[in-house]
Amino acid sequence: MSETKEIYKNLGIDEDVYRLGETICSNLKERFDSIDKIAEYNQLKVLQAMQKAKVSEACLYGTTGYGYNDIGRDTLEEVYANVFHTEAALVRPQITCGTHALALALMSNLRPGDEVLSPVGKPYDTLEEVIGIRPSKGSLAEYGITYSQVDLLSDGSFDYDKIKASINEKTKLVTIQRSKGYEPRKTLSVERIGQLIAFIKDIRPDIICMVDNCYGEFVETIEPGDVGADMVVGSLIKNPGGGLAPIGGYIAGKKECIENAAYRLTSPGLGKEVGASLGVLPSFFQGLFLAPTVVSSALKGAVFAANMMEHFGFSVIPDGKESRHDIIQAVTFGSKEGVVAFCKGIQAAAPVDSFVVPEPWDMPGYDSQVIMAAGAFVSGSSIELSADGPIKPPYAVYFQGGLTFPHAKFGILKAVQELKNSKVIRL
Ligand SMILES: *Cc1c(COP(=O)(O)O)cnc(C)c1O
Repeated sequence: MSETKEIYKNLGIDEDVYRLGETICSNLKERFDSIDKIAEYNQLKVLQAMQKAKVSEACLYGTTGYGYNDIGRDTLEEVYANVFHTEAALVRPQITCGTHALALALMSNLRPGDEVLSPVGKPYDTLEEVIGIRPSKGSLAEYGITYSQVDLLSDGSFDYDKIKASINEKTKLVTIQRSKGYEPRKTLSVERIGQLIAFIKDIRPDIICMVDNCYGEFVETIEPGDVGADMVVGSLIKNPGGGLAPIGGYIAGKKECIENAAYRLTSPGLGKEVGASLGVLPSFFQGLFLAPTVVSSALKGAVFAANMMEHFGFSVIPDGKESRHDIIQAVTFGSKEGVVAFCKGIQAAAPVDSFVVPEPWDMPGYDSQVIMAAGAFVSGSSIELSADGPIKPPYAVYFQGGLTFPHAKFGILKAVQELKNSKVIRL
């Protein structure tokens, strides 16, 4: 192992940083074992879904033009439906990102006069414009679709009384975000999502329950489709793309909901029948195949990061011991220097653009400067090792991804090294 130590040294990691990493890693064996067990289950689940749908070599060829009779595309959608245990799925490169997939699921299943309810507090930033919480061209609000919100209680539990009171004859769809996103709340487990869905269906069984599944796929052995969700929505440049999908989004769910989404994505009358897959199908299939182990690598990286940062006394969500329901790790540094040093370390560990030094800058849509670290093969991919932090109190960084655990580990060691070099921490 002295060779490993040597190459770490050549990559700029001091011996004390390396040794601390080894100590913390060796204490995480049991934790990593249980993450591996989940990956094993999910690997078999994906494999079984592919075999059941009879994925063949012909499925990898793709089509051009209208894309009629695209057997690969249709089979991939069957595989997704099998994996998420739903009736149907829409999985397309024409769905440009997670926000687009969520907007599509909402806009295709709502009509003027309907109301959307979020019973888990404020949704992800980009959805504020989709819904029209922040006025925006083409929002649901512009089409006469209203929105209501019930926040979580201070202990993180559901405010069942207010949720019940908020459901009225206009309520058509409930949107439930699994991941915390940039909110300080905890990520919801699939089990808790199931309890919420059961409560809502008990009041009105016809309400469509949609789950924003971004960053949650394959972290647990069950998915929201297993606990009654009518639509499960996510991005392919996060977990289910396995780092290989270069674009795309998915909606898995009830046949009727998926049909609505397909007619909105393409055109009334055309629906799922058109939409050439071009050359992306191999990366969609292979990325999904790899996704369970890629997600487990990212999870181990997040657990390692939490334990390293706790060692230096920084507050982390989730903490080093608690169970995980998404791949995101928040670390609060309490100072600009901490946020900047951490992000510089992550960037310096990247396979692409490692020589670039990230700086805080004014980004559209944010009320403070933001620093971002990403050196990814797929631009903006956050299943690859990445971090970002707004330059404002409490000076927290959101860290996620890592296609392999050794890379995620190296990223954290680099971040610790940067924190040491800039004297934010002492070893
Ligand atoms: C990333 C994310 C989105 C939006 O996905 P994009 O691909 O960035 O548009 C929506 N919701 C949650 C919880 C996310 O993490």
